[in-house]
Parts: sequence; structure tokens; C-alpha cells
Amino acid sequence: MRTFPIFVSVDRKPPLVTGGGELAAIKARLLLKRAETVDIAADRLGPELAELERAGRVALIAAQPGVDWVRGRPLVIAATGDDAEDARVAAIARALGVPVNVPDKPALCSFVMPAIVDRGEVTVAIGTEGTSPVLAQRLRALLERELHPRLDALARLAGDFRDAVAEKLPAGRPRRKFWEGVFDGVASEAALAGEESEARRLVGEAIEAAVKAQAVQGRVLLVGAGPGDPELLTLKAVRALKAADVILYDRLAGTGVLEHARREVELIPVGKVKGEHSVPQDKIQELMIERARAGQTVVRLKGGDPLVFGRAGEEIAALREAGIEVEIISGITAGLAAAASLQIPLTHRDISHSVTFISGHEAGGDEPSFEHLDLAALGKGESTLLVYMGVSTAGLLAQRLLDAGWKPGCPVIAVENASRDTERRVAATLAELAATPERLELKSPAVLIFGEVAGLPASGLVEDVLSLSELRRAYA
Ligand code: SAH
Repeated sequence: MRTFPIFVSVDRKPPLVTGGGELAAIKARLLLKRAETVDIAADRLGPELAELERAGRVALIAAQPGVDWVRGRPLVIAATGDDAEDARVAAIARALGVPVNVPDKPALCSFVMPAIVDRGEVTVAIGTEGTSPVLAQRLRALLERELHPRLDALARLAGDFRDAVAEKLPAGRPRRKFWEGVFDGVASEAALAGEESEARRLVGEAIEAAVKAQAVQGRVLLVGAGPGDPELLTLKAVRALKAADVILYDRLAGTGVLEHARREVELIPVGKVKGEHSVPQDKIQELMIERARAGQTVVRLKGGDPLVFGRAGEEIAALREAGIEVEIISGITAGLAAAASLQIPLTHRDISHSVTFISGHEAGGDEPSFEHLDLAALGKGESTLLVYMGVSTAGLLAQRLLDAGWKPGCPVIAVENASRDTERRVAATLAELAATPERLELKSPAVLIFGEVAGLPASGLVEDVLSLSELRRAYA
């Protein structure tokens, strides 16, 4: 049976349990944790149900209830133990659309009872689609241990102040932040310690303080989304995504990453998508400032790390100029993710003593000269070059490196879509790359690693330009 979890109201009409024996008593007792009263359909009541009847918690109705006794019930549990009678009641309930459960007869049930962790106002219901009651019980035991026994006090506290807070603090971040503060703070401690009136006094104070702090504006977080695999997000990045009212995201920040955002968040794509125009940089900055001034928590989500070829410098300057609080949350930059995937170190005590991050593109889109780099010195220094945005200019860079005296046989390895399902790696020598860059068939996004480390044995499949073209020729 496939089921969907819900909490059913038992306020209007009492639930119905058929049967007067022990099984019926167990079910009635469970229902009485929430329902005021339960109706029992039976010839006579066993000792426990009789006791509950005396206490006014259960009411006895005629045995073998007909349609009129079942109609309108929030739920029915058929527990007479008489198969024919239970099946009869189940059929009536199903015909009327009243949820029905017959213990241990899944075929007759339209709902199943979850394993329950009960903390008054806080209820955790656990289901396994009937696959494993034992697993459900183990989870229940785990949660019983983990959840504070007085968790209900916290829920009551929040319930009592809900309206007052809704009235005084605007929806969204201010209200959410207020409640997070309450649950993390002294008021909660007091409530959990059983000092409910102290807890109420503290929440009252916190409301006053939050109202005063209302005038405060929002902030911007520049968040690194990593190379694409959501598992490579930092815990801080996940927290920032959850805190965001609005997320301005790059094309390179993968969709799996955005799954961590709240459901109500506003998502604004600002990066380049094939065939569409990207939002110009100054517009992105304006948008961030405008939203922060409106009190929102703005996340600017960038592929990799925000401080590596991410125009973060301009954004930080604009935000500071506008007097807006900015925070940077690091991400794993594509080059490091590529190296990790290949299991190739970027520095190596014998063959590489430094790493240089370079861009294959220059601001303004002109053909890059690479003149700002002392390529000859880098070659002598046994360096690793990590090249971003270099797909279309890789051949040119390789030629400049040869001109600067790098060895023709120097290994190069390129990684497309590092960390994603579509990851692809190609190896070549500097001379091959300079002569026929198109043979690598590189597509963006890709990083290239130049230097002796690129010749170390890599983990997994690496296509080899030379042998590939050789093969193609052989089969042509
Ligand atoms: N801030 C980003 C870089 C942005 S510049 C970072 O730290 O990774 C865009 C370039 O990043 C692309 O042209 C490509 O060179 C590189 N890049 C981004 N994601 C990549 C990925 N998953 N695989 C390979 N290269 C990637």
C-alpha cells in the first residue's frame, strides 16, 4: 500500500472502534491520546473499556453498526476480531469514504497507523509503507531518546505567542529569525526546564527587542556553490541557501544545489544560459543592493568559489559603497574539484612547488596575450598552471608556453564538468595541444591543468588525444 502521511482532526465527531475486547481497548487508548471521546460498537465491554466508559471517555453504541453509525466519522478501526464483522464494517467505511483500519489486515485498510513519538503538541509519526514495523519501532526508540521530554512546552510557548509575533514582526526573514532566536536561546532553555512563566517573560522581552531591531536592513551573502555536485557544498552554504529570501544564481551553480533552498525562496537566474542574455554585472549589483535595502537576505550563488574568477571584487566594492553588510562563503573551486576527481596533486614535493590560477579570457573579450604572466619563469619553477575559461584559447596558451621554453612533451590534462555526471577528461602534450587544439574536442565548462603533475597516473578514464586520433585514423 502506498500511503501519504497526514494528521486527522478528531475534534468534530468521535472516532469509532468496533469490538469490546483487549485489541479494541488498545486502539481506543491510542486514539484517546488526542480524541476527547471514542465511540465503541460492541455487545459488551471488557474491563478496560468498561473503566473508560465509567470515566466518560468512551461511549457504547449498538454492536454491528450500520451505515448511519459510520457516516461522518474521522476514522474507524474495526477490531472485533471476527473476520466477517470486521470486513463488513470496513466495506461500509470504504463505501462512505471514511478512513478505516483493520489491525493486521492490510487488504481491508484504507490507512495504516504510524509508529508515534508523542510529546503533546509535538507528534512524530513514522511509516515504512508497511515494509518493516521493526524498523519503524527502532526509529521511534531513537527519536524517543533524542527528543527532549518537555518538547511540548516549547510548542505551547510558540503557539501562545504566535499571533502576537505575527502582528508585530513582518513575515519572512524577521519573523523566522525571531523564532530561530527563541528556539536557540534562553527562553527555550527555561521552557524545557519547566519554568514556563520565566520562558514567557523572556519571549515577551525578545519580541520587544526584535521590534526595535526592525529598522535594520538585509544583507548579501556571496556563496560558493562548488563545481556542481551538491555534496561538495559546505554546511555554511547550505545554511545560507536555507536563510535566503532571494537567490541570484549563476548557470554554473547546479540545480541540485538549489534543492537546498526554502520552497518559498525567489530564484533569479543571472548567469549566462545558452541562447539567452545574461544580466549585466551592474544590474546584478543594483538588484542585490535593492533587495538588501528592502530587508531581504540575498544570496548571490556562484559556481565554484566566489573569489576565483567570479567578479566578487566588484560586487564587494559596490555593496560596501552602498553600506550593505556582506559575507563570503567559500566554495570548492572547479580546479580543485578536477584535481580531486583525477586524484592528481597540484603540488608535489618533487615536481611542482606552486600553483597559478589563470584565466584563458581577458576582460573585454579580447584575445588574451598572457603577457602579464612570466611564463618562462613559471616553466623553470616547476609550476602547475590551472586554467579557467580556457576552452577556446587553450591552443594559443600552449603555443605561448612553448615559445617561453616549456617542454613540448609537458603533459596537459583537461577536465570538463568536473564532479558532475557528465565529467569528461582528456590528456595531451603541450605540443599536441598547440598544434591541434580541436582534437581535444573540449566543451565548456572545463579546466586545464598544465605541468608535470598532469602526467601522474590519474584515477578513472582519461581520453588520450594522440591514441584517439591514431585509432580514428586506423578505422577510417
Ligand atoms: N568561480 C568559479 C569559476 C568561474 S569562471 C570557480 O571557482 O570554479 C568559469 C570557469 O570555471 C569555466 O569556464 C571553467 O573553466 C570553470 N568551471 C566551473 N565549473 C566547472 C566544472 N564543473 N568543471 C570544469 N570547469 C569548471
